[in-house]
Amino acid sequence: MPTWVETAFEELRTAGLRRGGARRAVVDFLAKQDCCRSAQEIHDGITASGGAVGVASVYRALDTLAELRLVQRVDVGDGVARFEPSRVGHDHHHHLVCDDCGKVEPFADEALERALEGAAGRLGYAMEQHEVVLRGACDQCRDVGEPLV
Ligand SMILES: [Zn+2]
Ligand SMILES: [Zn+2]
Ligand SMILES: [Zn+2]
Repeated sequence: MPTWVETAFEELRTAGLRRGGARRAVVDFLAKQDCCRSAQEIHDGITASGGAVGVASVYRALDTLAELRLVQRVDVGDGVARFEPSRVGHDHHHHLVCDDCGKVEPFADEALERALEGAAGRLGYAMEQHEVVLRGACDQCRDVGEPLV
């Protein structure tokens, strides 16, 4: 099975697009992340590792990759668009969002997946995708101000 990076470069070529500077840098950066990143974080990450790519190019690259369905936009309701590789059936996960510090973390749960499939079946839906977001206070934030047991 080809890696996501290989698939991404192949799709770009099929679409007649060169894997030019920004696109290549964005694909390489996202492949190394365990979860979604905002355009700003992607830009900062690329620059930090010596890449020279403007924020506007990062946005354009993300638009192209999203159109080709190579990345998916993750919206957790804080007004910041984050992006991560679409990995159908591979590294599928959902998100935990901390309302205090804004941290977004991945989680996966087999029982949850089965429950969703079951629900879709009962509702007569051929489910193509789904989104689940758990909001609240993360590990670190929920401890603040509470007495240690
Ligand atoms: Zn994620
Ligand atoms: Zn937090
Ligand atoms: Zn799922």
